[in-house]
Amino acid sequence: MAAKSDDEVARTRLEELRLDSNRIQELSDEELYTSDSNADYEDLGPAIPSEADNIVYVNRMMPIFDDLQTETSRAQQQTLDKILPYLEGNPSNFPLNSFGIPKLQREKHVKFLIQGLGDKPAAYTTLDAARPWQVYWCLAGLTVLGHDISDYQQKIIDTLTDVQHPEGGYGGGFGHLPHLAPTYAAILSLAMAGSSAAYESINRRTLWHYLGRMKQADGGFTMAVGGEEDIRGAFCVLVALSLLNLPLDLPPDAPARAQGMTTFLDKLDEWISRCQTYEGGISASPGCEAHGAYTFCGLGCLAIMGPPRETMNKYLDMPALIRWLSYRQGAPEGGYAGRTNKLVDGCYSHWIGGCWPLVEAAVDKNLWNRSALGRYILSAAQDEKGGLRDKPGMRPDAYHTCYNLAGLSAAQHNYKFDEKMTGDVGKGSFGAPFHWKGDGLFEGDKVWDEEDVVEEVHPVFVIPFEAAMACREYFEAKDGF
Ligand SMILES: [Zn+2]
Repeated sequence: MAAKSDDEVARTRLEELRLDSNRIQELSDEELYTSDSNADYEDLGPAIPSEADNIVYVNRMMPIFDDLQTETSRAQQQTLDKILPYLEGNPSNFPLNSFGIPKLQREKHVKFLIQGLGDKPAAYTTLDAARPWQVYWCLAGLTVLGHDISDYQQKIIDTLTDVQHPEGGYGGGFGHLPHLAPTYAAILSLAMAGSSAAYESINRRTLWHYLGRMKQADGGFTMAVGGEEDIRGAFCVLVALSLLNLPLDLPPDAPARAQGMTTFLDKLDEWISRCQTYEGGISASPGCEAHGAYTFCGLGCLAIMGPPRETMNKYLDMPALIRWLSYRQGAPEGGYAGRTNKLVDGCYSHWIGGCWPLVEAAVDKNLWNRSALGRYILSAAQDEKGGLRDKPGMRPDAYHTCYNLAGLSAAQHNYKFDEKMTGDVGKGSFGAPFHWKGDGLFEGDKVWDEEDVVEEVHPVFVIPFEAAMACREYFEAKDGF
């Protein structure tokens, strides 16, 4: 009999998917969500006292500009022109907190994220390859806001079971080939859903084999079979191994075994080290440009491989890293840009802001301006109708909502890595992330009231602490697969 064509394989796979399942985020052709955030800012007259304070603050933070005009200096000026009205006044007419800063619009953001889990208008077809991501962003955002997600448990399991591939890992959509990015998002979502039904829906044995196929002879990991090798690959693999308590050894069928590799960690430490660039940040792969999200992935890997104080100080130039991270925070914007000479963007509130708890566990210093980041998120990143955004003038989306809120959490909470933590969880391979704990609220120079404070977020997994601990504990108690 002739081998099945790719088309036939994909069709059969689609037919296998349960038609009557209780999935979330199906496509429909309802109207797109629309926002007024593109509306021009109006001059609202003389400054009121809280605005006067903000104007003094902004002027104090304003850098000195030179006369050289370039494409990027003009883009920066245009961005600043858009953001300044939000830092100085309150064009969205939000109620203000005791610092004269917009309050966290908790209910509006909850509503926005719940909508994000619902059916989508036709314009969202591009998200067809990012279904697990949409689920993850919405759930993670809701948990940061303190919203109970237990109602979604079965829907999460049904949706993600249908994107799990028979040969291991998760695809971005129904019938898609597996890829590490949706695999990462699916596993974190199922950990948040909790319950043995959610955990057991993950085929850990085929997943372990799939992860093994990503290992490369130089120590890094590809994102898919035949796909690009970059530091996201390493981070996604280590997150899965750690949360699901999978073996350190490469499976027997891992192609990298032919090059002498025996474990997932072989040569990975030096590969990550080679991703740190001359600027100090971490790049996608050796020789590329330092970038905020890749830096978070690199630090996340090192925090899974061992205590941050050991792994980071051993494999990274920490002063260079700290300098690079610090220079990504804009003044007077307060938010972060992802790369040198780029514009502030709310998602880097997490990709860079979330690096600080990891770095601070390695160097014991309070190194960043948490208050300025909080100011950017509350004043400039909250959309009038709910959801958070890159910057004023941009639409809110689940991705920016999730990562602005995670960044706000990083600014508001302190975390501690405790090597001597005596609990039973996290004793085996990749157990380091289970030694973190919350260490109270940041009480320095802050711009938020108690009601603007969001929940703690696990600094490595970016899900609630309890969700990460319960998932690992469940699989530690289980023998084999
Ligand atoms: Zn962004």
